Amino acid sequence: MKEARYADTLFSRLSRDEKKLVHEISKQEITTREELAPRFPWGGSKLNGCLASLRGQGVLSVTAGEKDGSGRKPHAYALRSGLGFFLGLHCDIPGDNLVLLDFNGRVIHEKGYATKSYADNAVEAFLRNVEDFFSGLPELNKNILAAGISTAIQFNKPGSKSFRSPSYANDAVAPLKNALEARFRFPIYMGRPQVLICYRKYKSSLINSRKSFINIIVTDNVGIAVFINGESYLGHSGLSGDLGHIKVPGNTLPCYCGSTGCLRTLISYMGICGETRNRIEKILESGGTSPFDIKDFEGPDYEKGVKILVTKAAEHDPLATNIIYSTATHLGNILATVVSLFNPEYLIIHSILTRAEEIFTDRIKTIIRKNCLELYSLPLHIEMTAYTQFSIAEGTAVYARDKYFMQTLKDN
Ligand SMILES: [Zn+2]
Repeated sequence: MKEARYADTLFSRLSRDEKKLVHEISKQEITTREELAPRFPWGGSKLNGCLASLRGQGVLSVTAGEKDGSGRKPHAYALRSGLGFFLGLHCDIPGDNLVLLDFNGRVIHEKGYATKSYADNAVEAFLRNVEDFFSGLPELNKNILAAGISTAIQFNKPGSKSFRSPSYANDAVAPLKNALEARFRFPIYMGRPQVLICYRKYKSSLINSRKSFINIIVTDNVGIAVFINGESYLGHSGLSGDLGHIKVPGNTLPCYCGSTGCLRTLISYMGICGETRNRIEKILESGGTSPFDIKDFEGPDYEKGVKILVTKAAEHDPLATNIIYSTATHLGNILATVVSLFNPEYLIIHSILTRAEEIFTDRIKTIIRKNCLELYSLPLHIEMTAYTQFSIAEGTAVYARDKYFMQTLKDN
């Protein structure tokens, strides 16, 4: 039998209104009564009563906030960090990244593990990584309230015992989730990287304010997440957003999906490195000197190759500039279609390519302006953003925290 965890017991005692208040404070991370009041039109004395009750029960910590217009320092409320922890597991082709956040979204521990995704028993390898991560945190792991898994891996390599296709519409068929749930006692929530990266602190304001927006990742994977009024649209299969397998006219490259001409063969980090290798070989065959070492583009760490191209493009290297420019052209043409179809208020692009500002970001913006109706392109906010190794894992942990609070509200 599962022993009750301190925070679970604590939450089970809260009233529904107190739980709602805790959930809202968790999204803001630090907030004041003035910020909470418009979201809880209960009247001042009920809100004060709930806040006092939560302080009394040890759920909230209180500090003096920033000075307001009248020179006073209003109370700043946050959840008490030691109450519990949330685990984010990002499981992907280059490797696994794990992160543990406290109740307030502060990173307690993070660690990356190298490639193993297509190992013979990928699920076991993944579990070993999770055990290793816990071995550094013997006390904290007892108080993990929920975990999230982010993975885009859908296909087995023929003949291997790799991950089966995860289904987010019906979690019961996801072997990774099942194996984790059998081993550990916390609830586990799954999602795709392009969706879960949006739950990171700095992007989650769009979700919390119920905006409609589209997020794109161009990394080792190429994917799109559609958020409508703060909710992600998952599609019939639960796997909507597979931008990478849209066909590009004139492209004949084979894709791992079994088809040819897919966008990801051109613009995923693997695709970009493949194109770079082809161009280097052509230069060498014609007796020229390559500006790059071809080994840097042979993977499996394809991100390394793309980082080299971005750095060299900033130094005006013609080959690097040309490759990034043509990547931006392919992506821009597809994104113009996305903008025309969905008319989002915000379009966010996560990729280290966004560091190549004039070449990559300006090219995409120009194509969208040229190919879309002004009605759609003029008010569109386009945001280009890089990310760190742990960004997706962090978003995944925040997503798990959100799901945990939603569940506690349902349980009432
Ligand atoms: Zn494909």
